[in-house]
Amino acid sequence: MTQTFDFIVVGAGMVGAAIANGLAARGHHIALIDQGTAPQFSAQDDPDIRVSALSAGSERYLRELGAWGDILAMAATPYRRLAVWEAPEHPVAQLLPARPPRTTFSASDLKTPHLGHIVENRVTQKALWDLASRQPTVTLYSGAGIQSQADTGDQITATLENGQTVTGRLLIGADGAGSRVRQLAGIGVSRDQYQQQALVASVRYQGTPADITWQAFHSSGPRAFLPLHSAGQAHAGESWASLVWYDDPAVLRELKALSEQDFMARVRAGFPEELPDLTAVAARASFPIARQHAHHYFQGRVVLVGDAAHTINPLAGQGVNLGFQDARCLQLLLDDARRQGLDPAEPQLLAQYEAQRRPANRRMMLTMDAFYHLFSNHRTPLWALRNLGLGLAQGLPFARNQVARYAMGIDESLPVPVQALLRRLPSRWREAG
Ligand SMILES: Cc1cc2nc3c(=O)[nH]c(=O)nc-3n(C[C@H](O)[C@H](O)[C@H](O)COP(=O)(O)OP(=O)(O)OC[C@H]3O[C@@H](n4cnc5c(N)ncnc54)[C@H](O)[C@@H]3O)c2cc1C
Repeated sequence: MTQTFDFIVVGAGMVGAAIANGLAARGHHIALIDQGTAPQFSAQDDPDIRVSALSAGSERYLRELGAWGDILAMAATPYRRLAVWEAPEHPVAQLLPARPPRTTFSASDLKTPHLGHIVENRVTQKALWDLASRQPTVTLYSGAGIQSQADTGDQITATLENGQTVTGRLLIGADGAGSRVRQLAGIGVSRDQYQQQALVASVRYQGTPADITWQAFHSSGPRAFLPLHSAGQAHAGESWASLVWYDDPAVLRELKALSEQDFMARVRAGFPEELPDLTAVAARASFPIARQHAHHYFQGRVVLVGDAAHTINPLAGQGVNLGFQDARCLQLLLDDARRQGLDPAEPQLLAQYEAQRRPANRRMMLTMDAFYHLFSNHRTPLWALRNLGLGLAQGLPFARNQVARYAMGIDESLPVPVQALLRRLPSRWREAG
């Protein structure tokens, strides 16, 4: 028998589960569908290999939804400082006596208790699934993906791989970068595969949980340290961290194939001296990275959010933060539409969503691309330019703090001079879809 809902949300990842909860809290009836099964968490387990730096803006949204308390109760590591610098590998840098300039953002400069939290994806997802299971207006369908969708004019029906069918007024596609919903709706994408991939490693190190996250730019790609929680009594005095090594796929294949001891030795040699003393590597995985943008955010009774609509270079950890902004924006518009008695698939309404989110997502894509192209090469004028930029950023606390407020999701737009700079980028970088 087909059940009828207000909204069908396909994909209960972090973004889909968030919007489902947001809509359910306002009394809408939701079918929340995921091909996977309920996420698990145990404090004794090694951390999830997938972690995200959640901005203050995302924290605010998750708090509004009522999931933040559960996230904190499981595991979330606040960071109060964020540092970026260029590894001194350029031949000119080797001749200079001084250390290359660094830009450090600190919570105390921004008058805020922290800059963000590093949270395992399974923790955020579990808190949102648990919340959804407590909402009387959410029905969770897990363990079977969507197979087809049929738009019948005034409603849309989704058929799952196990034959179940559900009907609603609008289907929200939150099923990630390879979105089946997007394909079934016939929405194309612009896609650019970066030459670099990302190798992520869950490691243990000697010491208490760090309050800093940092990233050193090498011409082959950045190397980053993201602090996680204490490793507990089983490994007293140690803490977990997530390391990210961006490089050519061939180099990452070689790194993945090394024994744990050899891998640690390569990491010690390849990472900056700021890396704490590693004691173990629990897991390693590599991810292809691509910039992808859907040609449209909606089609008929289908609308896209999160990675289904856009993916960006993860070097500044903004993907899910943008996805949460999509979710919040769409949720508010849909709620407003109901108050006005409008059809939630009204094209003008969904166009309003796209008009608000596409430029913001595109701006972030451009910013990440500018960083990628600026740092991923060895040419001396660009080396001088980026070091000048990092030096200036450190020397101009006002501008630096404005950019940090944007990255943290406190401000929704970049400072005007940065926007003007982005408009001057070559068109190849501007045409992000
Ligand atoms: C190396 C790396 C590091 C990153 N670091 C950060 C970071 O620090 N900060 C940050 O903000 N972002 C980061 N990101 C990006 C972030 O992980 C993504 O933006 C985020 O996971 C997107 O969430 P989502 O819910 O839109 O999609 P997903 O997380 O992909 O979730 C999609 C959900 O849909 C389900 N699904 C898929 N297909 C179907 C189907 N056919 N039927 C039903 N269900 C389906 C899946 O099971 C899944 O639960 C990083 C990404 C990478 C690769």
